Amino acid sequence: MVVGGGLAGMAAAVALGSAGFEVDLHESRPFLGGRATSFPLDPSDPDSERIDNCQHVLLRCFTNLLDFYERVGTSGKIAFHDRFYYVRPGGTVDVLKRGLLPAPLHLAGSLLRFGALDAADKWSVIRGLGKLKRDAGRPDLEAITMSDWLRSVGTTETALRRFWQPILVSALNEELDRAAAQWGFQVFLDGMMASPKSYEMGIPAVPLAELYSSAGSLGKNVHVHLRSAVEQIDPAGNAADFYVCAAPFERVADLLPGLGLQLDKFEHSPITGIHLWYDRPITSLPHAVLLDRTLQWVFRKSETYVQAVVSASRSLTTLSRAEIVELACNELREFFPASREAKLVRSHVIKEMRATFSSRPGLLSQRPDPATTYPNVFLAGDWTNTGWPPTMEGAVRSGYRAAENVCRAAGNEMSFVC
Ligand SMILES: Cc1cc2nc3c(=O)[nH]c(=O)nc-3n(C[C@H](O)[C@H](O)[C@H](O)COP(=O)(O)OP(=O)(O)OC[C@H]3O[C@@H](n4cnc5c(N)ncnc54)[C@H](O)[C@@H]3O)c2cc1C
Repeated sequence: MVVGGGLAGMAAAVALGSAGFEVDLHESRPFLGGRATSFPLDPSDPDSERIDNCQHVLLRCFTNLLDFYERVGTSGKIAFHDRFYYVRPGGTVDVLKRGLLPAPLHLAGSLLRFGALDAADKWSVIRGLGKLKRDAGRPDLEAITMSDWLRSVGTTETALRRFWQPILVSALNEELDRAAAQWGFQVFLDGMMASPKSYEMGIPAVPLAELYSSAGSLGKNVHVHLRSAVEQIDPAGNAADFYVCAAPFERVADLLPGLGLQLDKFEHSPITGIHLWYDRPITSLPHAVLLDRTLQWVFRKSETYVQAVVSASRSLTTLSRAEIVELACNELREFFPASREAKLVRSHVIKEMRATFSSRPGLLSQRPDPATTYPNVFLAGDWTNTGWPPTMEGAVRSGYRAAENVCRAAGNEMSFVC
């Protein structure tokens, strides 16, 4: 039995189903996907336009997530982009893209042409990237913040704000003075620098839920039970031979009261998605990093529909939805002059207060492995000890690791993590 139909639970179910287990997956909501999902804009009309709770992106280095999409037959629905567009207030655009040099220098050419940074900023970035490689094995990276480390290597304020923050705050969903340096290192070493393609950004070409909604997509041995909230897992009961608990960290104490996990260092970090429909196109860019303002990224979802994203969006939590829309439209007018003439037709703001856990220094010791004190109960979820910050990759990885543990407990070693 798998409890929770987010990516972690689905990954565990698909892996176990492929290994020949009969799997019952229980999801309390009426749809799969958990925090990476989409829903009809008009709740009373299931056929109305579907929007994602928030734009989700991946990097080529998300190997387990890509393996999962392959297993459920939807890997072809991810479009990869090899250019990042950085827009300054006023509308000037810089492009970060691969050049001819080999990794880790493949982005160096576009970095040298990057107009948003002056020569001292660029030098501090280049020096920082070199030190990052050298410091990668430092034992204290989980104990210090990313901004502590960046400052210790002489990063300029502009380089911090215009180069490091846009990539890392969205990748980690945390401010750099709150996120442990270990995860910032990982994003750069595995994503931006590992190979000429590893930095490429994957954007689902369909609403998120369509990546896992087709009947039977989780495999023939997996039986999905929607609207099926599990109240408690009884390890000694006979509901199943093995249990994978793939619920978020705040639900685990209720589901498994005897487990006694210490989770007092866990806290949430919010994300706000701002969906805006205009009467005309406001930009021809498919997506863009927005510099020096509150909005961080914008994605063009159709000709006239854009979605802006603010990660670690604590500054927005006290604002009303109308205030957030006004702030977003004002900022977009600065970045995209075409939007000054455009009329806003519709808007929708989604504040995800529990978007992810906050990857603070010192949290690692509380992130549990899949195995528990019960021989037949295993944990999964982006918050477990995945070796990753809170991401879809971490969630799938945790599901595969839980499935490997179940196989081992059943006397049939299998490996799924790739
Ligand atoms: C707004 C937002 C933007 C994000 N952007 C990105 C991004 O761009 N890239 C990226 O990699 N990651 C992103 N993430 C993070 C990513 O969505 C999560 O890391 C991942 O989806 C977590 O998956 P999970 O399976 O661990 O947990 P969840 O998705 O939370 O799944 C847990 C499931 O368990 C169910 N459940 C809970 N209790 C019970 C119960 N008692 N019985 C049955 N079911 C139960 C829940 O309904 C839920 O479906 C974003 C997250 C949010 C919220």
